[in-house]
Order: sequence, then C-alpha cells, then structure tokens
Amino acid sequence: MKRFNVVIVGSGPAGYTSAIYASRSNMDVMLFEGFFSGVAGGQLMTTTEIENFPGFPEGIAGPELMMNFRQQAVRFGTEFVTEDVLSIDTTQRPFIVKGSRTVVQADAIIIATGAKASRLDVPGARDGELWQKGVTACAVCDGAMPIFRDKELYVIGGGDTACEEAVFLTKYASKVYLVHRRDELRASKIMAERVIKHPKIEVLWNKVLETIEGDKIVERVVLRDAKNGILEERPAAGVFFAIGHVPNVGFLEGKLRLEDNGYIAVRKGSCETSVPGVFAAGDVQDHKYRQAITAAGSGCMAALEAENWLISEGLI
Ligand code: NAP
Repeated sequence: MKRFNVVIVGSGPAGYTSAIYASRSNMDVMLFEGFFSGVAGGQLMTTTEIENFPGFPEGIAGPELMMNFRQQAVRFGTEFVTEDVLSIDTTQRPFIVKGSRTVVQADAIIIATGAKASRLDVPGARDGELWQKGVTACAVCDGAMPIFRDKELYVIGGGDTACEEAVFLTKYASKVYLVHRRDELRASKIMAERVIKHPKIEVLWNKVLETIEGDKIVERVVLRDAKNGILEERPAAGVFFAIGHVPNVGFLEGKLRLEDNGYIAVRKGSCETSVPGVFAAGDVQDHKYRQAITAAGSGCMAALEAENWLISEGLI
C-alpha cells in the first residue's frame, strides 16, 4: 500500500490550495478529487462568473478558476485520484484512506469535501416524483434544458445563491419568480438589488412552497402565504432550490467530532479536528463565510498545520 505524508480528500478551493502548499513544501501528497457533487472541483464547477475572487478584476468562470488551482497543484507534484473516499481509519498510524478502488496510508489527512445543495422535502420534489423532471438544486447545471425555455420558473430561497440563480435563469425563462419565506432577502446588497431591479424577476415575499405538481414534468406549484396561510396555485415549468447547503461528512462515519449543525468541529482559529493529524478545511467546517477565498485560505492553513504536526511527530 502506498504511503503519503498528506492525503487530501476533496477538490474545491480548499483541497486544491492544501495540495499546492503541501506539495510545494516537498511532501508526498495525494488528493482524492472525488465525485461528491457529481463533478471534481467542487461547487465552483457549477458556478458561472466569479466576480469577487481577488486577482481577477474582470471576473473568472468557476470551472476555469478550479482548473487553474488544479494545474498549480499538478505543477508541484500532487498525485490525483478521481475517486470518492468511502472511509478513513484513524485508529491506526499511519491512517488509512479508502477510496472506491484505491487504498492508501496517510501520515496526515486534510478533509476538504465541501457541502452540497439542500433540497426541500415537499410533495412532488422527492426522488421518483418530479425531482430532476423540472425540480433541481442547481440552476447553472440544469437551467439551459429545453423544458425551461421561455417558461415561468421558480427559485426558492433568499440568499446569494438564490439571487445568482434567478439572474442566471432569466437567460432562458419568460419570467423568474424568487420565492422567499420572509420579507427581506438574506443576500448581499449588490445581489439583492440586481434581483429586485431585474425586469424579468419578481420576488414573491412571505411565500412558502407547499407542493409541486405535474404529470411527467413540473406543471404547477402551490405556494402558501406565510402570513395569512392562503394557498395559491401557479403555472410553473421549473423549481430550483437555493436554500443553503449540508456538509459532505457521510464517509466519516462519526470518526471526527461534528458541530450540532453537522459541520466538522475544528479548534477555534485552526483547522485541527478532534483527531490529531486530521485537519479540515473549507465549507465542510465553515458554515459562516463559505466563500471560495475563505475556503482557499483555510486550505493553506490546513497544509501548514499538517506540516508542523508531521514535523512535531518526527514524520518528516
Ligand atoms: P444561505 O445564505 O444560507 O441562504 C439560504 C436561503 O434559503 C435563505 O434565504 C433562507 O431563508 C432560505 N431557506 C433555508 N431553508 C429554507 C427552507 N426550509 N424553506 C425556505 N427557505 C429556506 O445560502 P446560500 O445562498 O447558498 O449562500 C451560502 C453562502 O455562500 C453565503 O455566505 C453566501 O454569501 C455565499 N455565496 C456567495 C456568492 C457570491 O458572492 N457570488 C454566491 C452564492 C453564495 P432565510 O433567509 O429566511 O433564513
């Protein structure tokens, strides 16, 4: 079994940045780039233009930014495996990281598996109902499908993702409705203003999605007014959930301490988890900022902390 100084699990900005730092420090580094969200590179692979990543004054496409990160890690010698990690064993040293085909030994592990989009569990939205038949959690991935062209589409949520997705969908839809359960958007001011001023977007305030209906694909939604409880049926061709994220921690099977909200617990101001030698970086441990730049920053921290820990243990 091959042994590495550092094995990184996850391939968004956090994982790739850890890989750049760790391999540039001459450590043997392997990165499992996985398929947690269906695509290596993390959530930015399903994002359009990134306007706020420093260093790109004109903005940069999410997939292009991730390819740049990856190439930089390749340049310093990171070994990549495109497999999901099924489990880690932290009861023995070196640790064991088990992928779907590859099993390796790791002196230190960095978990950077990110988070995935949440779904609302309402009638019509479930697997086997209209999920992926007009109901999705990624406008950028699915928005260009013919079933959405020149139709009325509904985005659920009031955060930056919801606003971004609503604006994105105006390219295809006849009209986009943003359904928000409160009377104020959570999104940043600039995104909220873009949505409110957009001629093809209407915000439906204080509305809750009750059901999604249709024969083979989405045809209608039923919304409930959160204030007076009145139900309203509206024609719809698509429903896009943008209601936040859940961390990808399933494969950890309780081996690391988690916060009450399911994110990996780390020592304040560091990437150290409850197991010495295992570090967590990016959205899998950060429910507050969840930005590409903060994920990259914590990826750097995790690599430096892993290196210091390996030195202190006499492993490098
Ligand atoms: P978020 O900020 O947590 O917003 C989630 C939204 O979904 C909130 O408006 C929330 O409503 C609503 N929601 C949650 N559960 C719901 C439910 N059960 N039913 C109905 N609505 C529900 O998540 P996000 O928009 O994905 O953003 C996550 C982070 O990424 C944020 O820090 C954001 O700034 C960042 N982000 C940045 C950009 C950018 O800068 N370009 C783009 C996307 C995301 P309430 O408001 O009532 O809680």
